[in-house]
Amino acid sequence: MGRGGETVRDQRPALEIDGLHSGYVANDVLHGVWLSVAPGSVAAILGPNGAGKTTLLRTISGFLPLRAGSVHLRGIKLSAADPVARAQAGLCAIPEGRGVFGGLTVRENLRLFAPGGRRGGDLARVLDRVPRLNRLLGRTAGTLSGGEQQMLALSRAYLTNPSVITIDEVSLGLAPIVVDEVFEMLTDLRRSGAAMVLVEQYVQRALALADSVCVLNRGRVTFAGSAAQAGSIDLHDHYFRQVGPGDDPAAPVTGEAQSHA
Ligand code: ATP
Repeated sequence: MGRGGETVRDQRPALEIDGLHSGYVANDVLHGVWLSVAPGSVAAILGPNGAGKTTLLRTISGFLPLRAGSVHLRGIKLSAADPVARAQAGLCAIPEGRGVFGGLTVRENLRLFAPGGRRGGDLARVLDRVPRLNRLLGRTAGTLSGGEQQMLALSRAYLTNPSVITIDEVSLGLAPIVVDEVFEMLTDLRRSGAAMVLVEQYVQRALALADSVCVLNRGRVTFAGSAAQAGSIDLHDHYFRQVGPGDDPAAPVTGEAQSHA
């Protein structure tokens, strides 16, 4: 509370990335990526195949070490922290492929997701938010449909109360009607106040949920702006655009880059 009794909002970005370089073996995949996500807002990461979107999420979550640059979570520098320390600091990473334990039951998965194996109220809260899991508690997670597995994976965010959730390809392989359900769950999660970084193949769905958009191409930011801005232009121009140091990634596409579109 402030001195006058008013609620003081945390003005720090939930997540701030600056000058990020990372990659595999001898190859850098990300070249100076930057991103700032406000508390409670959703950033969509878009771009062509191989642009570095998954690599960016892996680097944010600490599964891939960064080679240069910085990652701050609510103002706390986590650049050198391992995935466990990042999770403890408030990061929840939902990987591509859902990240559930296929050989364990839904109930066991939920117990494992809960910090310190907490149960009781936490489980009741998840089942209240995701009622579909009620009748699946005794089922082995590997036998669930793709949509049910994705909902189980996203349930982790209700259990850990994170300040930032990263989600990779949430709708991959799901039927459109199931994607609708999964996006309803994301909308519910954003109401909890967590910031989200979302890699998503369906651009229109991503824009409908997101506040801001970052387009990556070949490991560089080629567009950064609001979802409204992104919705008013042909984003695909930026999928093929090259930017160098000092270029403004939000600037209109002209010249050679446009001829690729
Ligand atoms: P997609 O939309 O196809 O999933 P993406 O934007 O998520 O692509 P990444 O998966 O981050 O892209 O891949 C970026 C680059 O890094 C690609 O050239 C890819 O071949 C390479 N890459 C990804 N994972 C590895 C790995 N484990 N070892 C070596 N190179 C990798």
